[in-house]
Amino acid sequence: MAYKNGTKCVQSGWSPKTGEPRVLPIIQSTTFKYGTSEEMGRLFDLEASGYFYTRLQNPTSDCVAAKLCDLEGGTAAMLLSSGQAANLFAVFNIASCGDHVISSAAIYGGTYNLFAVTMKKMGIEFTFVEPDCSAEELDAAFRPNTKAVFGETIANPALDVLDIETFADAAHRHGVPLIVDNTFATPVNCRPFEWGADIVTHSTTKYLDGHATSVGGAIIDSGKFDWKAHADKFPGLTTPDESYHGIVYADKFGQGGAYITKCVAQLMRDFGSTPSPFNAFLLNLGIETLHVRMPKHCANAQAVAEFLSGHEKVTWVRYCGLPGDKNYELGKKYLPNGSCGVLSFGVRGGRAGAENFMKHLKLAAIVTHVADARTCILHPASSTHRQMSDEELEACGVLPDLMRLSVGIEDADDIIAGISQALDQI
Ligand SMILES: *Cc1c(COP(=O)(O)O)cnc(C)c1O
Repeated sequence: MAYKNGTKCVQSGWSPKTGEPRVLPIIQSTTFKYGTSEEMGRLFDLEASGYFYTRLQNPTSDCVAAKLCDLEGGTAAMLLSSGQAANLFAVFNIASCGDHVISSAAIYGGTYNLFAVTMKKMGIEFTFVEPDCSAEELDAAFRPNTKAVFGETIANPALDVLDIETFADAAHRHGVPLIVDNTFATPVNCRPFEWGADIVTHSTTKYLDGHATSVGGAIIDSGKFDWKAHADKFPGLTTPDESYHGIVYADKFGQGGAYITKCVAQLMRDFGSTPSPFNAFLLNLGIETLHVRMPKHCANAQAVAEFLSGHEKVTWVRYCGLPGDKNYELGKKYLPNGSCGVLSFGVRGGRAGAENFMKHLKLAAIVTHVADARTCILHPASSTHRQMSDEELEACGVLPDLMRLSVGIEDADDIIAGISQALDQI
């Protein structure tokens, strides 16, 4: 029986047999025992599936990956030690030196740096396009060596909503997959595979964990992209891997399993961005309440956004749940049950006005984090971006007065009261 997502949040991944623990066990072991060298040899040859070393696979992590796979509606999934590792692996698994990737420009700063600086040093070129670009503009960005298209469902921190169908159609017209970072929406509010995305990534550090305890990442494959139909573009999946006695991933593991198996067998083997089983356990606990927390984050953020947008000391508010927001229509289409708890806004007085406001805030903590149960706030111009002038900030889309507010799951009245009294004092 196919369950709905709320049931999957609670139940998927770990199904104990008679006498086994009801709660997902933490298998805190690096190694796994075999009776004979032959048995273990078959695992090393990818001829049999099983555990032998936690850098590659671990039963606790695999159960949580299976839960995320089920939630996103995919065919295979893996956990990683961070969201950064997830986006690196997701792209590097199908693009290498000499290749090209198209990305929405509205993405997380860490991902932008990974793509534009570090992966460029690995020989992969990125073209950044505006999130609201037309199909023609997207088409024009493709090159013969383009291997993937990338975007974020809801961009952190710009809060643009990705037109997933437009990006997926363009990717498919050119024979490459669309990779979507679904961190802010979570599979509770959007399942990008239903709109044509081929691969989904997550920083599980945010809402999936939900309590700010564990940095982590995940990659999920929809199994819908036909690698063999574009075999010349993806030789890593369609030609023999000599490091595993010449197996061809697309043949041996099929369309639903090839991408993730290759990613584990090659990239996790060599780069080792492995999550700890204990962190996977904490992540699983977080996901068990994801479907309860997300609607509360959204309702609270909506209430805060409406309060702010009616306040005379607030100059602007960005939240796709507000009618009139430039992403309102896209939000209605892709995020009909709500987007997330993150919004941004500015107050009178520019950079100094924002600093003054933050000084008087109550309840909302000043931290470099988003998307957990506790309300928190960040003013990039006086923290993460403090070396930049007002002009430089505006050029990179971060206004000097921009504050990013991550609305938690406390009582909305208390969150608003904490903001309201700070506004009164500036
Ligand atoms: C935080 C974040 C990342 C990076 O994830 P880490 O877990 O911090 O490595 C990637 N993408 C998005 C959208 C994020 O918010």
